[in-house]
Amino acid sequence: MYKSIIIGTGPAGLTAAIYLARANMQPLVIEGLQPGGQLTTTTEVENFPGFTDGIMGPELMDNMRKQAERFGAEFRSGWVEHIDLSKRPFKIKVEGAGELEAESVIISTGASARYLGIPGEQDNVGRGVSTCATCDGFFFRNKKLIVVGGGDSAMEEASFLTRFATEVTVVNRRDELRASKIMQDRARDNAKIKWALNRKPLEVVAGDTGVKGLKVLNNETGQEELVEADGVFVAIGHTPNTGFLKGQITTDDHGYIMVTPGTTETNIPGVFACGDVQDTRYRQAITAAGSGCMAAMDAEKFLEGHMVHDWSEALDK
Ligand SMILES: Cc1cc2nc3c(=O)[nH]c(=O)nc-3n(C[C@H](O)[C@H](O)[C@H](O)COP(=O)(O)OP(=O)(O)OC[C@H]3O[C@@H](n4cnc5c(N)ncnc54)[C@H](O)[C@@H]3O)c2cc1C
Repeated sequence: MYKSIIIGTGPAGLTAAIYLARANMQPLVIEGLQPGGQLTTTTEVENFPGFTDGIMGPELMDNMRKQAERFGAEFRSGWVEHIDLSKRPFKIKVEGAGELEAESVIISTGASARYLGIPGEQDNVGRGVSTCATCDGFFFRNKKLIVVGGGDSAMEEASFLTRFATEVTVVNRRDELRASKIMQDRARDNAKIKWALNRKPLEVVAGDTGVKGLKVLNNETGQEELVEADGVFVAIGHTPNTGFLKGQITTDDHGYIMVTPGTTETNIPGVFACGDVQDTRYRQAITAAGSGCMAAMDAEKFLEGHMVHDWSEALDK
């Protein structure tokens, strides 16, 4: 039995762990399949405040974890298979670690960027392939870029990237774009944006010096083509990691957890959500960390008046 269990060890979960541990709440943190979260898949992080020369993603996450451990947060590897939120204490089934109970739960399981699943893509993540223009656009000044996707976020990323790139080519599998008219119009009015529609991505082509372009199938001619570029931004959406909740909590149509605006409170008292799993808009390390702090403070406040277990002995220790 724990006062609080935090699910996920990205910037949101680890910040929540630092705050709860420093509040003497002895949180248990469940790491999931990706200890340290998404930033462990990248190289340099230049926009997390406090690091004048940037910091490598894995190092930043390692530091956060050590900081949480220093104040007494406990870590357990494994991933949450199932959770019962019907009554408190909540029951959490962790693969390989049995069933745990908690007075409160903080869900910080992130949202995974969708990839194309084509050869050359995963090998070059962080080396020319990206899913985040805000994070990585700055690295591509005066370069040629590709954005793959046809929705609003692809249009937004393409427009944003023209601030750095000499040219941005939007590659979309279909002839028509899914994006709203206003977003399409904005992109079409941008002279730096070129279009390669009706092209199916086949392979990210890269050499020793980095990405060279995207091999595509031209659906009209049936011919393979190489769209040359120094970087490929995949903008085909994110999937929030909420499958294990199995409809027990209110989410939006895409599976993102809904919270009361300005808080991290979900529709279930004692259950809080922070980071990308409840954020359809910003999805940055610093916003995830900020909402992790909020979740810890919300959980702490909730626990002040709602403990079901007698913790007096534990508190005396
Ligand atoms: C390649 C790349 C580069 C990026 N670069 C930057 C950057 O430069 N600057 C920036 O601000 N942002 C960057 N981002 C975005 C940033 O990484 C995310 O916004 C941030 O990591 C979100 O934090 P989070 O804590 O919400 O979730 P995540 O970091 O996604 O962490 C989720 C955690 O939940 C765990 N988990 C998931 N499901 C379960 C389960 N069922 N049971 C237990 N645990 C589970 C995972 O193991 C993981 O530990 C980048 C993202 C990527 C992919």
